[in-house]
Amino acid sequence: LGPTVCVGEILVEIVATTIGDGFRTAQPLVGPYPSGAPAIFIDQCGRLGGRAAMIGAVGDDDFGQLNLDRLRADGVDVSAVAVDRQFPTGSAFVRYRASGARDFVYNIATSAASRFGWSDAVEALVRRAGHIHVMGTALSMPSAAAVIARAVEIIKARGGTLSVDPNLRKELQLDVGVERQFAELVAKADLLLPSGDELERAAGVEGEAAALEKLFALGVAEIVLKRGANGATCFSRDGSRLDAAAFVVTEVDPTGAGDCFGGAYVACRRLGMGAEQALTYAAAAGARNVTVRGPMEGAGTRAELDAFIAATPRR
Ligand code: ATP
Repeated sequence: LGPTVCVGEILVEIVATTIGDGFRTAQPLVGPYPSGAPAIFIDQCGRLGGRAAMIGAVGDDDFGQLNLDRLRADGVDVSAVAVDRQFPTGSAFVRYRASGARDFVYNIATSAASRFGWSDAVEALVRRAGHIHVMGTALSMPSAAAVIARAVEIIKARGGTLSVDPNLRKELQLDVGVERQFAELVAKADLLLPSGDELERAAGVEGEAAALEKLFALGVAEIVLKRGANGATCFSRDGSRLDAAAFVVTEVDPTGAGDCFGGAYVACRRLGMGAEQALTYAAAAGARNVTVRGPMEGAGTRAELDAFIAATPRR
């Protein structure tokens, strides 16, 4: 079966280099960096040599070109990324607080990525795709959510697989429609990649064991739980459990760790690796990415991740 596809937001990120509250005292800012959770995921997937393709839209501007250039350079098929002549590429300004929390200013509500739809190029890609990865964040954009629903149906019907990263913003109360689509996707997923309390939220029950049991009963085959600097654990429906110790790194910019982790895990599994080896590459991809400023600047090739694994101690 064909490439891994990911649907959703593509934007640029501009990051404050000083830690503090808000932007009025934040100088200097650096960027623009290519970004968007689905874009980071698919970039890491392509960079690792997995067949990868993106569905979304950018504006007919430099920020859009920056993203297209990066994705292409990392081996991602962008034939289904529309170039919108009316609406610009979105942007996000980010500053970290001392607590690790982030302040954002978003310009995405009227961006190209918030209004793309089904097209002949999307149809052609989906009809040859072998796997689709869904980011929870993309479901809150109605246009992306509609494309995702249709793409999942076609890809699953042709024997392809589905992975879901719940990454639902904890602070947001989701619409009923988004909650329903999310629950339907979880029930169809082969692989889930939650972090923190997203596991329980995805299952709709409290407690790790109860959540795992419920999700496996729904048909999920594998659940990889991300735990930031504490590493990750892969639970399989057959009852097996694999723990991956985190690599010891100095965190410069945590944005994109989970997306790089997911992109590496899916790429490695689809390249035929077992869960243990894929988990090592995924943990390395997540850890390496936090050492570099910019959401996808630390995504690694196989050679870069091999070098990182050889040189970096684990907890
Ligand atoms: P985000 O939403 O910020 O992209 P996430 O919550 O989805 O992230 P994390 O658990 O933060 O995902 O990170 C994914 C994986 O990357 C972790 O399971 C771990 O293996 C690796 N990782 C992340 N942060 C660190 C860190 N500071 N040190 C070492 N490894 C890390």
